[in-house]
Amino acid sequence: MRLFLFSIIIFLQINFLNAIEFIGKFEQGSFILGKTKPNSKVQIDNRKVRVTDDGYFAFGLDRDRKNDVIIKIIEKGNLETIQKKVLKREYKIQKIDGLPPKQVTPPPEVYERIKNDNKLIGKARSLNTPYKFFKKKFINPLDKYVITGVYGSQRILNGKARRPHYGIDFHAPEGTPVKAMMDGKVTLAEADMYFTGGTIIFDHGHGVSTLFMHMKDIDVKVGQKVKQGEIIGTLGKSGRATGPHLDIRLNWFDVKLDPASVLSLN
Ligand SMILES: [Zn+2]
Repeated sequence: MRLFLFSIIIFLQINFLNAIEFIGKFEQGSFILGKTKPNSKVQIDNRKVRVTDDGYFAFGLDRDRKNDVIIKIIEKGNLETIQKKVLKREYKIQKIDGLPPKQVTPPPEVYERIKNDNKLIGKARSLNTPYKFFKKKFINPLDKYVITGVYGSQRILNGKARRPHYGIDFHAPEGTPVKAMMDGKVTLAEADMYFTGGTIIFDHGHGVSTLFMHMKDIDVKVGQKVKQGEIIGTLGKSGRATGPHLDIRLNWFDVKLDPASVLSLN
């Protein structure tokens, strides 16, 4: 009898602990998919996040995140608090000298244009829609590629430290068809932004977005719903690109995440 009661208690504890699951590593730059009981309320670092009717939520960890993540789950009036450590990463630092100054600092006459581009991108990334596309596994945007740039790396150009690189660069021939990595809705499709050239942003719901830059052709329109794997345009070298390549970004609102945390790259 005592053993029986003991087993019941163990079972209940396991059940309680299993009420929440995470897919993804608690590491700098990671995208994390959470699953809890339907109708739960979830807060990440005191920020309320949406939960789908089947219990899914999403969040991500900044490149330089140091603090533990505090996850609060309220289900039927019970509060559960989970504290998770975040693994640190080391990022590549690359020095490039002898570049023409034009490539290092944009000329003043384009400041307005850059400001406007950033505003449009920021707006698209701030959307908090109830779409639940983000639950699926992401797929690669290209079949054949060579990775030429990684997340978190930082360049020191002509002795000046630049912003870290927040994307993954895929080298492939100009004109190669590019695929949507996840079902989503197009929230931005611009043919010619200053830095990013032909640019597309997809909303995958709950603040999760992907961005594609340096596109040659763009075959989608704002407001259009796109399926994972659908051709969205072709790879190019538009904007400030040194050669043909696709640079992709993954965001949780304004938090810039490592796309490699959701892809299987070779
Ligand atoms: Zn890049």
